[in-house]
Amino acid sequence: MSAHSGPNGSLEDNGDYLPLEVLGDEDSENHVCEDVIDSLTNKHVECLARFSNNELLAKDSIGQNSLHMAARVGDLNILKYLLDRLPELRDIQSTNGETAAHISAAHGGE
Ligand SMILES: [Zn+2]
Repeated sequence: MSAHSGPNGSLEDNGDYLPLEVLGDEDSENHVCEDVIDSLTNKHVECLARFSNNELLAKDSIGQNSLHMAARVGDLNILKYLLDRLPELRDIQSTNGETAAHISAAHGGE
């Protein structure tokens, strides 16, 4: 009975991606978020800083980049960090034509 098999057939082509083996300890100093999305949902700017610009600019299946996701999470520190580092994120549209500003507004931001 293998409950968790299932083919992983639809992987995005993200180039070299090394999954980190250090997972689980949320509060240790050695904590690292597994990926950009983890960093965003955990609101860890320090973790986010570990990722390359390419990773922050990467789009998900609906064309949203890290700033879109940050806008949904709604953390100002994260948003400021991303915009400071990669101002062009602001103008990138998802496949819906949404920029992060749209999402932010939809979530009651400024
Ligand atoms: Zn983290």
